[in-house]
Amino acid sequence: MAKEAKKGKKPHKNKPTSKKYSKYKIEGDKITKGRSCPRCGPGIFLSESQERIYCGKCHYCEFMAKNKSEN
Ligand SMILES: [Zn+2]
Repeated sequence: MAKEAKKGKKPHKNKPTSKKYSKYKIEGDKITKGRSCPRCGPGIFLSESQERIYCGKCHYCEFMAKNKSEN
């Protein structure tokens, strides 16, 4: 008896763990953190893209690398 694929039942997948630890870097004796959200405070890190940083929690967005033409 061939079993049919069960409808509506998806195979369980583990959620990807938060990679907060990757925001901390240890350089010698110093610990450098990634950029944290000014609204949410330290502990909430911003995801960095090419031109902006973004908080996934409060949707705070900040543009950076503005000083391209300034000189
Ligand atoms: Zn935030």
